[in-house]
Amino acid sequence: MAKIRLENVYKRYGTKVTAVKDFNLETEDGEFVVFVGPSGCGKTTTLRMIAGLEDITEGKIYIGDRLVNDVPPKDRDIAMVFQNYALYPHMNVYDNMAFGLKLRRVPRDEIDRRVKEAARIIKIDHLLQRKPRELSGGQRQRVAMGRAIVREPKVFLFDEPLSNLDAKLRVEMRAEIAKLTRRLGVTTVYVTHDQVEAMTLGHRIVVMKDGEIQQTDTPLNLYDFPENKFVAGFIGSPSMNFVRARVEVQGSDAYFSIDGQKIKANPTLSASLKAYNGREVWMGVRPEHIGLKGWTTIPEDNNVVKGQVEVVEPLGADTEIHAEVGGAMVTAKVDGHAVVLPGDTVELLIDTSKLHAFETEGSEKAIG
Ligand code: ATP
Repeated sequence: MAKIRLENVYKRYGTKVTAVKDFNLETEDGEFVVFVGPSGCGKTTTLRMIAGLEDITEGKIYIGDRLVNDVPPKDRDIAMVFQNYALYPHMNVYDNMAFGLKLRRVPRDEIDRRVKEAARIIKIDHLLQRKPRELSGGQRQRVAMGRAIVREPKVFLFDEPLSNLDAKLRVEMRAEIAKLTRRLGVTTVYVTHDQVEAMTLGHRIVVMKDGEIQQTDTPLNLYDFPENKFVAGFIGSPSMNFVRARVEVQGSDAYFSIDGQKIKANPTLSASLKAYNGREVWMGVRPEHIGLKGWTTIPEDNNVVKGQVEVVEPLGADTEIHAEVGGAMVTAKVDGHAVVLPGDTVELLIDTSKLHAFETEGSEKAIG
């Protein structure tokens, strides 16, 4: 096992593109860290710099105590699993898994032991003689992981390993990866653009945008305490709602005023909003923290807004309502049995203990 440390790492392509800016991270031994963010935000580039497949323009990368800036990929003690598996089509599963070890001149009986052990762990013992074309997508993905495991690396690097699988298989394999990495306890960096994958797999998540880290934290802290509007909107599904509101302070209370309707902020948020009296902010509220009057346990207390329902999506346990509130579209996740139809005017109750506020300028940082 080994820690990974990145210090002030930059990657520039020519003079125009800065793919990664001032990236700093120190993992724990055995930690599972996920890089998440929209397409083009620099996740893969950062992973490839850790792997040694991409030069570092500036900064330092350590694996364990060793500075690896100039260490070639094969000597970094890492194993990488890619999106496209990169299996050799003419070799059977056994040889695919054994190949890297043969190149390293590992003795034949040691190779045999490691391949069989890995095949047992990931439950492909019965497939060892098959060629890749005779395997399903999920089985190929397992082989790609098996090939990484046999290397007994200090670090696993995964680059969107599940994106070629269908939705059901993706969920299954996600659980497999979680189990496997927990069992092996190897430090892991995992790249994805899927926030659900990030939330379910990561001990910590690095949220990136435009080559820069937005926030590094545990899944729950990112959900509860996003540091800016981008992180708030990226983490959580369906996404957090943002409504432009004007802050009105009365005594010790602050209110979000939305098109004449008023929502009272909780005491903690009120204290932080005081400095914004009379100014525009983003009020942020997650769909799961909005209820439909008559169908929710959220008590009524200066927290009701009127909405015009446009779309109703029944999902069984919940129903998602998309309604227009003060000129903004708001999604609410309400009781699945609620009777509501498009065109209805409804009263929505907001759980004010779960409200967020963000500045409307600059990096739209969280208020409070
Ligand atoms: P995706 O999820 O789409 O794979 P990503 O977050 O992994 O995206 P990167 O592949 O790391 O993003 O790319 C980061 C930025 O660097 C992008 O703007 C990309 O266009 C740019 N980039 C990547 N490789 C090169 C290159 N060889 N030359 C010039 N620009 C590049």
